[in-house]
Amino acid sequence: AQEQFHRDTWVEVDLDAIEHNIEQISQVIGPKVGIMAVVKANAYGHGYVQIAKTALSSGATHLAVAFIDEALFLRKQGIQAPIVVLGASRPSDAELAARQSIRLTIYSKEWLQQAETYLTKDATLLVHLKCDTGMGRLGIKTAQELKEIEKLVHDIEAISIEGIYTHFATADELDRSYTDRQMDTFTTLVAELKEKPPLVHASNSAAALFRQDSLLSIIRFGISMYGLSPSSEIADRLPAKLIPALSLHTTIVQVKKLKRGEKVSYGATYEAAEEEWIATLPIGYADGWIRKMQGFEVLVDGIRVPLVGRICMDQCMIRLPDEYSPGTRVTLIGRQGKSEIKIEEIADYLDTINYEVACAISARVPRIYW
Ligand code: PLP
Repeated sequence: AQEQFHRDTWVEVDLDAIEHNIEQISQVIGPKVGIMAVVKANAYGHGYVQIAKTALSSGATHLAVAFIDEALFLRKQGIQAPIVVLGASRPSDAELAARQSIRLTIYSKEWLQQAETYLTKDATLLVHLKCDTGMGRLGIKTAQELKEIEKLVHDIEAISIEGIYTHFATADELDRSYTDRQMDTFTTLVAELKEKPPLVHASNSAAALFRQDSLLSIIRFGISMYGLSPSSEIADRLPAKLIPALSLHTTIVQVKKLKRGEKVSYGATYEAAEEEWIATLPIGYADGWIRKMQGFEVLVDGIRVPLVGRICMDQCMIRLPDEYSPGTRVTLIGRQGKSEIKIEEIADYLDTINYEVACAISARVPRIYW
């Protein structure tokens, strides 16, 4: 894989970890509940195709993405498994989706009425009805609208309801009350349908891990498939042993000795306090290693060293305790010897969540799989 690109910054994805995490969740949810692998946003930064293939070979039966373009990309790469688009699609793309066997989310009656005008009899569009039970995002809110949609679909030959679902806002919190209420609302809505669709789903990773009552027919398994905890609040109580699949590495491209008072990077904000070894790394904010990472640490030779000066678009600098040669491996996320920098530590530093850190690693960074 290394010959396919020409820069010495890369993400490593451990596909065995993905398989392991799926095995772990299978044990938690039991054999009767299916797994829909959530691979939107380049599989949370891990790479669409390899993750989709690994998830499917490890027991997932469905894939989920946010947008039709992501589903089309997977189809172009030869992936034939059912793909559900969780986000909003254009009604005018209903026929395109139907022909590619891509399942779309219906979140309003108006959407359905518009989509109908674009469908032909050549292909059936499979849809999942999205209920808004408290997320306040996408979805049908009332039993009346849900029933009207069911009736409308019944009269349209080219559409068939494959699923009904909702999404939890607080399943990653210890307090279960809000999720309980969402679950009750969802159960009531589902009961309004004349015919129960084959797939009824609600659980994200957090609910799959902690709420046996919300498993239903299939879970939508995202963050924890990648070995990450849905939140720090529940991180030390997980009923499964997860292995993070992603690590991020680069190599030193130049090392120089700065004299006391010499400066580093834009704004010349960092000044060497004494004679210092400064190394340049070929990764910057255009790779998702954002400017706010200034002052954080990376691993060199198994020890933590600081990022100094401003992060540039394609490069950044670190201070070394000694001289190291160009080509020395630097780990930004993951393990080196006994040391480890977890995505969660970066998320804390940036005042965000692990999801965002993984998704932010841009497409410019090559992914290596093993
Ligand atoms: N379902 C929907 C509708 C989502 O938007 C997401 C992700 O944001 C998921 C499932 C997966 O959630 P998680 O990554 O927490 O497992």
